[in-house]
Formats: sequence, C-alpha cells, structure tokens
Amino acid sequence: MTDRAAVLLVLSSVSLFQSAPTRIQPDPPIKCDSCADWNQPREPFKVYGNTYYVGVGGLSSVLIVSDAGLILVDGALPQSVPLIDAGIRTLGFRTEDIKLILNGHTHYDHAGGLSALQRFTGARVMTGTAGVRALEQGKPTPDDPQVAFSDNGFPPVANVHGVADGDVLRVGNVTVTAHATPGHTPGGTTWTWRSCEGARCLDVVYADSVSAVSAPGFRFTGDATHSSIVDSFRRSITRIAELPCDIMIGAHPFVGDLDGKLKRRAEQPGGPNPFIDAGACRALAAGAMKGLDDRIAEESGKKKN
Ligand SMILES: [Zn+2]
Repeated sequence: MTDRAAVLLVLSSVSLFQSAPTRIQPDPPIKCDSCADWNQPREPFKVYGNTYYVGVGGLSSVLIVSDAGLILVDGALPQSVPLIDAGIRTLGFRTEDIKLILNGHTHYDHAGGLSALQRFTGARVMTGTAGVRALEQGKPTPDDPQVAFSDNGFPPVANVHGVADGDVLRVGNVTVTAHATPGHTPGGTTWTWRSCEGARCLDVVYADSVSAVSAPGFRFTGDATHSSIVDSFRRSITRIAELPCDIMIGAHPFVGDLDGKLKRRAEQPGGPNPFIDAGACRALAAGAMKGLDDRIAEESGKKKN
C-alpha cells in the first residue's frame, strides 16, 4: 500500500463514522490464569510528547495524539476496555476520537479489547495482513504457534484491514509505519512513529512480542504440517534491533522495564526521562534471539545452555 493510498483509506473511515453510543460497552471478560494479574489498573501517563501509556498492569495499550484525532495501539483484554477508556479520559482525551486502532498481534491478551473499542469508535483496525483473518474470526489461524491452546478465542473484530511491511498510515499530523515482525504470530507487526517535545523529536517503537512461545507440539524448526519459520523469525528480531529507537514500549510492560523507568522518573522529577533509552530495542532483540536459539536447541534435542 502506498503512503497516499493509506492516507485515503484512513480519511475514508472518517466519512463512515456514525454517531457513537454514549458509553463504551465491553465484551464479557476472558478468564485465564494471568488475566486478573495482567488487568490490574494502572495510572495512565505521558511517555513522551504525544505518546501516552493507557494500558493495564501487564498489557500495553498506547495512545498517540494527532491534530485530527487519536490512534490507539492494542486493546489488551475485553475487561481492560473500561480501564483503557477511563485512562484516555483521565488524560483529557475522548475515546470516541480514536480514528485508527493498530494491533501488534492477534492473541486474546492484546486483541481482546479491540472489538468493543472498534464498535464504540467506528475506527479502522489495522494489523499485519497475515493476522486479518484471526481478528475477524476472533481466534488464531492454524499457522499460529499457539493455535492449539484451548480457550484462546476473543471477540471478533469489525473493520479490519491488513498492512504490509513498510506501509505508512497517517492521521492528521502523525505518521505511523508498520514493520512486519512475524514469528510469535504470522502477522506480528511492530509500529514506529516520531514524537516531539518542542524541537526535540524522538523515534518511538511499539515492539510487538518476539518470544518463541507455542502450544505443545508446534515446532519453529518445522514439521510435516509447515516449514521452518526460523529464518523469518530471526529477521523480525534483527529488524527490531536495527530500528531507529529512542523510546521502546513492549507489548507487555515488563519488556523494556516500564515499571523501573516509571519509578526512576518519579524519583527524579525534572531529571532525564528514563523512557529515552537508545539501547532498549537492541536489548529486547538480544533477549529474543537467545530465546529463539534456546528453543531451536530444544527442538533439535540438544541441551539448552
Ligand atoms: Zn502473544
């Protein structure tokens, strides 16, 4: 998709915007072992410039503010939606002004809230092309390493469109670029944009999950049902390491130590912003590459370490 085509698509979604219901209507909660822990409320906060964290304790959701509406990256769990909505309002913005919703990957803990957010806002939802069907049907596709987990469904999402590697999306004065980072899921996408404070503009990365996690029985090195995805997974991880990256926000806030950065910022008001961390993307990539190497060794029967 060209830059111009993307702009037209986003603008056309505005013309389809219909009067929103007055209150957001969440879908029923998903139950999982970690869900209650992940969904702990968290105060929303400005990361830098027009970039805000509006996610919950263990699942990221990021708000990008443009001069013509809002962009939201990821929707956590269905039960996270009231918290995300409240966080956006606490910051002084209106959830109904979300024009574009971006998804890193199509697992219930990042896509579970998207359906309710989309219904309320009428926003266009975008994810990697290989993830479109999963969002539309509300469950992973057969090529997803985690498809065999039971109970991994989530509310199906409307108005979903695919992006390819390098696609550029625009809302007002904000431009977001999609980077295909498949491996954890086939459609995994990392998103980048620039945020400014005064004349200082920084590169922000929303890094999608790149952990080699699967349901029992799946092999990243390939088997009778699918060929190896190791090479594309390695390219995804290398891609994240090489992105212009002043600020990295992971799909789960423990990635990149969001809490540590918040704590240091609170301890040093007026000091340097700990979220500005030029090594964060490379550190994430190094950890992910080791995780993938360990997994490959395990699949080949060699001992880890
Ligand atoms: Zn996942």
